[in-house]
Formats: sequence, C-alpha cells, structure tokens
Amino acid sequence: MRVLGIEGTAWCASAALHDAETDSTLIESDPYEPDSGGIHPREAAEHMSEAVPEVVETVLDAAEAEYGPDAIDAVAFSRGPGLGPCLRTVGTAARSLAGALDVPLVGVNHMVAHLEIGRHESGFSNPVCLNASGANAHLLGYHDGRYRVLGETMDAGVGNAIDKFTRHVGWTHPGGPKVEAAAAEVGTDRGSGAADLLELPYVVKGMDFSFSGISSAANDAYDAGEPVEEICFSLQEHVFAMLTEVSERALSLTGADELVLGGGVGQNDRLREMLAEMCAARGAAFHAPDPRYLRDNAGMIAVLGAKMAAAGDTIAIRESRIDPNFRPDEVPVTWRDAEPS
Ligand code: ATP
Repeated sequence: MRVLGIEGTAWCASAALHDAETDSTLIESDPYEPDSGGIHPREAAEHMSEAVPEVVETVLDAAEAEYGPDAIDAVAFSRGPGLGPCLRTVGTAARSLAGALDVPLVGVNHMVAHLEIGRHESGFSNPVCLNASGANAHLLGYHDGRYRVLGETMDAGVGNAIDKFTRHVGWTHPGGPKVEAAAAEVGTDRGSGAADLLELPYVVKGMDFSFSGISSAANDAYDAGEPVEEICFSLQEHVFAMLTEVSERALSLTGADELVLGGGVGQNDRLREMLAEMCAARGAAFHAPDPRYLRDNAGMIAVLGAKMAAAGDTIAIRESRIDPNFRPDEVPVTWRDAEPS
C-alpha cells in the first residue's frame, strides 16, 4: 500500500508518499512564513493554492520515478481541523488527484494523525497522547472505538499562546523556537538559583487547562521591563509544567503506561525533558516522534491514510467536505482492529 498524503491545515503546504510495505516516507513541505505578525488566514490560503500543487507534483514525480505509473494506491488529505480557506484548497487538490489517478480518497483528522504517528513510530499498544500543537492542546486516550478527549485547553492552543507573547515582543512567527533559544540563555539550573522564575498564572482545572492568562501576564512582564530571556524561561516552565501535570493525571486515570507526544511544540527539548522525567518517575514509557513528524507535515497524513485505506476506511467524493472544527473524538477508529497484534 502506497499513499500520497496532502496536508495544509494552516501554515505548512506538504505532500508525502508513504510506502506501508517498507515503512518509508518521503515528505516535501513548503511553509508559509509571515513577514510580520501571526498567520494571516487569507495569506495562508494564497500560499496553499500556490504551494500545494508544487509539493504534490514533486512527490508524485518521485513516486512515479521509483514505482512507475501505478505508484499510488490512495490519496489521503487533512479534512480538519484547520483554517477553512486552506482546507478547501487541500480538499480540492486531493479530490482532483484521486479522480485523475482513479484511486480511493481518504479523509484524515489532522489531530488524530498527530497522535497516530507517535503510536506508529513507537509501536506502543495503547498510549495516552499529548497533542501540543499550535492551535490545539489536548490529551487523548483510546477507548471503545474512539479517541476520547481526556483533557484540553479551555482557550488558546499551546503554540498560539507562546506565539502571542513573541508577537508582543516583535519577534517573527513562529515564536516557539525563539522562546526556546532565549530560555536556554538563562539556563535550567534552578537548583543553584541561576534563574529567577517569574510568577505567572498556572491554571489547571482537573484535566483541563488554560493559557490565555499566561500570555497576557508574560506580555505585562515584558512591558514592566523584565528581561525577555527570563520571561521566556518562566513561560516555558509554567506552560510545560501544566502539560506535564495533566499528562501524568491522564496516565493515572487511564492506568496506561505509555505516553506519546505530538504537535509542533513537541519539538521543544524542555517539554520533552519534563515529560520524559515524569514518565521515568512512574515507570511509564515515553516517545517523542522525529521532529519532521511533529510540526505539521503530510507524512503523518499519509501514514494514517495508509492504515485507514487498508481498513477500507475511504470516503466518497460527495461526502468528503472539509471540517474546520473536526474534533478527534468524532472519528470512528476503524484501523486499530485491523493491525497485527
Ligand atoms: P495544529 O496542528 O493544532 O493545527 P499548527 O498548524 O499551528 O497547529 P504545528 O506545526 O503543530 O501547527 O505547531 C506550530 C507551533 O509550534 C507554533 O506555534 C510554533 O511556535 C510552535 N513551535 C515550533 N517549534 C517550537 C519549539 N522549539 N518550542 C516551542 N514551540 C515551538
């Protein structure tokens, strides 16, 4: 089974070819990088309409060069969640391509793909997943044919909360890597008092959490003249401690002993370190996917698309409309029973 995946929910126009037999994946991506400010939906959609055909053509050419004219068995695409105008471009490209190649179409939930790539890479049987992405943040666990949302942000996505602060400071998008670099200048040797931890709102309510207050408080601290490196350090410590606390609670609640990380913020070393420490302390296994699979990418869409196609979970063109608010718990999980145990 070889699946061509297409991703373009917000900023990353991406196409990939996943060969399930060899478990190899080729990914071609073209990111939208705003000159200033955050992601502008109209500019992002314009980027998608230019870049999606290009990345698809590159991957299709590579696939046909390697496997010949029948290289593709199915086309998978991100149906949502994401920005409507971007999703529409991706949906149109996927439908056209599936029609032209005369292969089935697979509609993939982007958030479930963020989860499944970690399960695929790790080989874990039934992990809890922390999705720490730009526009989302939630904990998912599988039960009775669906991924259940065990906990989630009550307002902003985790990456968006960090980016809100970096926009205030005047740094270009994406802000997460810049916050990580600035925080690293302070160092993490808290025991010796090398860094002062600024007090910022820490909001965890049961399994849910909130980031809107912390972005505003970080902005206020910057306006009050606190050193930006110390704010970045404190922002990371607070936000990632919240995510680590709820991840631990989710493991405890479900009795699971495996945690996988997903989403672009998962590229952050400090977050990975905190989650790994927490898992080690409770004897749980932890897996953070390769960074190319953490940020938005079509590889995860093609990998899950191949599992869905193998389970016969394809979609008719007339039912393949995009869904900007597509929640992960709306997806019937058809592919797990078909997997070798
Ligand atoms: P979603 O997947 O929810 O639709 P998204 O489309 O914004 O979100 P992702 O690629 O998952 O995309 O995540 C992008 C986010 O990751 C941005 O907010 C960016 O600042 C953040 N990010 C990237 N690298 C790092 C890092 N090293 N540390 C912290 N955050 C990071």
